[in-house]
Amino acid sequence: MSKESEKQSLKDHRDIGRDLDLFIFNDVAPGAPFWLPKGMVIFRELENWLRNLFKREGIVEVSTPILVNKKLWERSGHWEKFKENMFLLKDGEQDFALKPMNCPEAALIYESDIRSYNDLPLRFAEIGRLHRNEVSGSLGGLFRVRQLTMDDLHIFCTPDQIQDEIINVLKHFQYFFETFGFTKVDYFLSTKPDKSLGDNALWEKAQNALKDALKSNAITYQTKDKEGAFYGPKIDIDIEDSQGRKWQLSTVQLDFNIPERFKLKYTDKDGSLKQPVIVHRAIFGTFERFIGILLEHTQGALPTWLSPVQVALLPVSDQFNNFAQKIATKLKDNDIRVEVDESNESVGKKVRNAELQKVPYYVVIGQKEVASGKLSVKSRETNIVKEITLEDFLKEIIA
Ligand code: ZN
Repeated sequence: MSKESEKQSLKDHRDIGRDLDLFIFNDVAPGAPFWLPKGMVIFRELENWLRNLFKREGIVEVSTPILVNKKLWERSGHWEKFKENMFLLKDGEQDFALKPMNCPEAALIYESDIRSYNDLPLRFAEIGRLHRNEVSGSLGGLFRVRQLTMDDLHIFCTPDQIQDEIINVLKHFQYFFETFGFTKVDYFLSTKPDKSLGDNALWEKAQNALKDALKSNAITYQTKDKEGAFYGPKIDIDIEDSQGRKWQLSTVQLDFNIPERFKLKYTDKDGSLKQPVIVHRAIFGTFERFIGILLEHTQGALPTWLSPVQVALLPVSDQFNNFAQKIATKLKDNDIRVEVDESNESVGKKVRNAELQKVPYYVVIGQKEVASGKLSVKSRETNIVKEITLEDFLKEIIA
């Protein structure tokens, strides 16, 4: 196949979503996917992946309200700058909005208690559901949605702690890229724009902390001079997918603005009140867009741990359904996601379906398997059929 026709045969994530039964869209909710059972498996596995990281890294989870009084958005500045993109509602005389981001409410959690330097850094993660009013015309599958689920983290720290926190965040990013097989990754550091908030010494300190953190993780990067937000410098990361397309995914952003607007404080060693810095970071960005990217990157052939169905059992005829169900039970006992194809289709058709569904392993079950006690396992990865015992098969999948 030529390179060009190979490109043309690559599928859009919407087609892959249909083939794999992952999600649908309906006109009643533009820009918001309906997740089907198999799509939810991917969603939950990604959450598990994140939560394992939280456990290891001293990150705690919070959950904040979706429908929030305008007062908060005025306080955070979103009302002034972002109102057009917010969904507004009235509750009697009061104006409310669906949250377009989690940060202001994370700040409310911070200020709900007295904080001392000893308590910092505080790392509040929120897998929060956000709404942003994108024009309907610009919506497109999972890439542009109006309801989004962000893998958000807000770190409240002292200026002296910025560097260590960024070093850790960059390690999370590197672990993430390894896990998902993104080998081409570009880092960009955006620095202080002409119009900015926060004093120069703090900007200087923060930018040096970002540079030193990049250096300490042996990361080469490009600088986008003066392209930081007015409220702080940031590091953005582009990844290249299997089709050579670039996507901006992970980002870590310092914020001097919300601490200032919310007058956040902590008590320092000498008893004086100081202002913390906020670090915003997202690994996936949004689950919706990331799942879309991942589906196109892998063309639906997700790694086994993320696959909605990990093993398909294909009895050659009805009389082997019971035997297949017994094998299925043993696999399920070992937390393997398995499906038995009990349809009346020919085994050839069942195999084609399993292949279309990109199931990592399928097993044809007939007289030979019942007699020998071994399974003929076909692996998507190696494209080889192996005759192995159930025990060995389990070891292979769990590894
Ligand atoms: Zn944030």
